[in-house]
Amino acid sequence: MLRRLFLAGLPLTAQSAKAAVRVEPPAPFPGSPILFAVGAKPREAKWMERPVWFAMDESSKEWVALAAVPLDAKPGMHVLDLDGTAHRVRVVPHAYRTGRLTVPPRFVQPPKSVEKRIAGEREVKKAAFAVRSERMWRGAFGAPTDTPQTSPFGTRRVYNGKTRSVHQGLDFRAVVGTTVRATNTGRVAIAQEMYYEGGLVVLDHGEGLFSLYMHLSGFAVQVGDVVPKGQDVGESGSSGRVTGPHLHFAVQWQGLYMEPATLLTLRI
Ligand SMILES: [Zn+2]
Repeated sequence: MLRRLFLAGLPLTAQSAKAAVRVEPPAPFPGSPILFAVGAKPREAKWMERPVWFAMDESSKEWVALAAVPLDAKPGMHVLDLDGTAHRVRVVPHAYRTGRLTVPPRFVQPPKSVEKRIAGEREVKKAAFAVRSERMWRGAFGAPTDTPQTSPFGTRRVYNGKTRSVHQGLDFRAVVGTTVRATNTGRVAIAQEMYYEGGLVVLDHGEGLFSLYMHLSGFAVQVGDVVPKGQDVGESGSSGRVTGPHLHFAVQWQGLYMEPATLLTLRI
């Protein structure tokens, strides 16, 4: 109630006033997405030293920006800088699990013959993720399938008892051929078969926000296509480094992977 009175009682041009900021989720954690909503558009904004851009959300009439908390961020107070005014946001601790997986040995120690291929694919991804387009996403993010979520984001994984990595996405149960849909509007940045990812579609939603759909068995889009939220991007499969058929769904913001389950619940 206080926040509403505060906003209503001030002209939006008042530069000296510290504007109210709505933060979602209310308790952001290392690896979580973080949404900021304000009543007036800041000229310049930074979250943990990274630039963020606010755009008007027509349904809520708020200026909205989406960012991420780095997975290695320390819990505690972090700064959202709006035109030189520091807004402190508390990041709370979060417990991620550890799991062991067994995959074909060629995905833990790739044969020499595919080293060149892997290096080439790394460059394709690097170039795609370096693009900074205008915002294309609008409103809430939708689940890529209607099937249940299985393996969560952030799990520390040990492959075949050796290779350690962090699960940078969210898995959905999906028999081969399940329709996979765009979580939000974007432009297709990658649609190709990759060594580790298998059939991979990457959508560029603008401002350094990308969604990734992995292990696909078929593509419904091509690079350059503009895909509205909810449209098919392909069919799920079991290609690449997998233990079985499923959809791996990941979201990256300015090089940081975020926890998709929370992104899907944000009120935008
Ligand atoms: Zn996965």
